Amino acid sequence: MKKRKKRNKILLTILLVLALGVIGLGIGRMAGRLVGVRPAGSEGQENQGLGSSGMGNQGQAIQGQGSTGQKDGINGDAEMSGMSDLSSAEAPSTTEDAMQKEEQAKDVTKTPTPSPKPTSTPTPTPMPTRESLNDISVQDMSAYLGEMPLDGTDIVGTDTVDYTYEEVAKDLYFLTVRYPDLVKVRVCGESVDKRAIYEVVLGNEASENHIEIHYAMHSREYINTLLAMRQIEEFAKNAAGGGTYNGASIRDLFANVCIHILPMANPDGEMVAMGGLETLRLQSLRDIVHWCWESDTLLGRTSADLDTYLRTFKANAHGCDLNKNFDAGWAEYSDGVPVPSTDCYKGTGVASEPETQAILKVAHENPTRCVIAYHSAGNMIYWNYEVEDELLLNADRDLAAGLSEMTGYATAVAAKYNTHLAGGCSDYFMWTAGIPAVTVETGQGTCPLTIYEFPAIWESNKNVLYKLAEMYGG
Ligand SMILES: [Zn+2]
Repeated sequence: MKKRKKRNKILLTILLVLALGVIGLGIGRMAGRLVGVRPAGSEGQENQGLGSSGMGNQGQAIQGQGSTGQKDGINGDAEMSGMSDLSSAEAPSTTEDAMQKEEQAKDVTKTPTPSPKPTSTPTPTPMPTRESLNDISVQDMSAYLGEMPLDGTDIVGTDTVDYTYEEVAKDLYFLTVRYPDLVKVRVCGESVDKRAIYEVVLGNEASENHIEIHYAMHSREYINTLLAMRQIEEFAKNAAGGGTYNGASIRDLFANVCIHILPMANPDGEMVAMGGLETLRLQSLRDIVHWCWESDTLLGRTSADLDTYLRTFKANAHGCDLNKNFDAGWAEYSDGVPVPSTDCYKGTGVASEPETQAILKVAHENPTRCVIAYHSAGNMIYWNYEVEDELLLNADRDLAAGLSEMTGYATAVAAKYNTHLAGGCSDYFMWTAGIPAVTVETGQGTCPLTIYEFPAIWESNKNVLYKLAEMYGG
C-alpha cells in the first residue's frame, strides 16, 4: 500500500505539471495569449484529503425503495469508481503546498525586472466564433427544410441512439416548423466548444409553474437526449391532434404550466462519446480530452484504449464532471480527481462550466417548481438528499412519488453531499436553491446504452411530461 501511495503521489505531481502545460497551451491557443488558467488541483483546497476515503463509496449498490443510496452510482455511472485506484492515493496537498511555498518564496526574494518594451504590439488570435466553426445553429435553417420528414412521419427517429448535435439542431427546427404554436426553441447557453445549448419551451410561459428537465449532462448517457426529443415530439403531436391524458386534453393540461427542456445539456461531451476526438472543433479541447485519457491511464483509473475511453466519456470538453460543478459542498469535495478527467473532476470553481451555467440560468430566470435531471442507468429515482426542511422534503417526495408511479422506477433516498459526494446538480437545487429536485436514472446496463434499451426507457417515460403538467399545472 505504501508503495502504491508513493507511486500515486509521484504520478499526481507529474500530472499536475502536465495539466498546467496542456491547459495553458489550450487556452493559449484559443485566446492567442497565455492566461494563467490553472488546472485542477492548483486551487489548494481542491486537493486536500484526496482519497481520504474510498471512491468506491460512489459505486455502492442501490437497494430498493426507501433505502439510502447515492444517485448516479450504479451500473454505467459507477464504472469508473469501480476501476478507480484513487481510494489509496495520498493527498497531493504536500506537493501543492510545496509549489505554493516555492512561489511565495520567489515573490519575496525576486527583484522585479522591468519588461523590455515590446517592439511591436502582438496581435492576439481572435477567439473563434460559432460562425467560424460553421456551427449549424447559426445557419439559415430553412436550407434544411428539404430534409424534413413528410407529414404523418415522425421527425425524431429511433433507429439509432447516436443522435448528433447537428441532427438535434435540425429536428428542433423541424419541430418548430411543424408545431409553431406548441414548440419554442431557444439557446440558453454555449458549450466550451461553442455549441448551442438548446432550451425547448412547452406550455404557457406566463404561468407561475415552471419546470426544468435536463438530459445527459454526463456525455455517455446520450440515450436520454433521444428520450427528450421523443417526449417533445409526442407532446406536440398529441396536443396538435387533440389528444388527452387521464381524460384532460393535453392543451388544457399545459394551460397553466411551462416545461423547459434541455435535451442536450453537454453537447461537446455527448459528441465525444458518440464520435471521438474529431468531433471537437477546437484543437485545444482535443488536447485536453486526450490528456484526460493519458492522465486517467497513469493514475490507474482506466485501462481502456483511447477509443473505448472516449466512448465512455462522462465529462465536458474541459474534462470537468458537470455533476460535481454545482454549489453544494463544492469547496469541501475532496474525493475526486484534482485534474481533468472523464469523471469526478469538479472544475476550477463553482459553476465554472458554461453547461452548468445554462442549467442554472433556466431554473433561476423562471419561477421554477421543480428540476429533474435525467441520467443513466439503473431505472431509479433519487430524491431527498437528506434535506431537513419539512416543506421542501414533502414537495420532493411528491415529485419522486409522481414520477415513480408514472415510470415504474423505484425511489431511493439520496445521501446528503459530503466530502466524497458533492457538487451535484440535484443536491444544489435541494440544498442551496431550495427547489425540489430528483435524479432519474433510465435503463439498465453499462453506458452508453444501446438502442435496444430504448423501447423500455420510452415505455416508462413517454407520459412524464403529461404527468408533470397534471401535477403542477392545476
Ligand atoms: Zn450520470
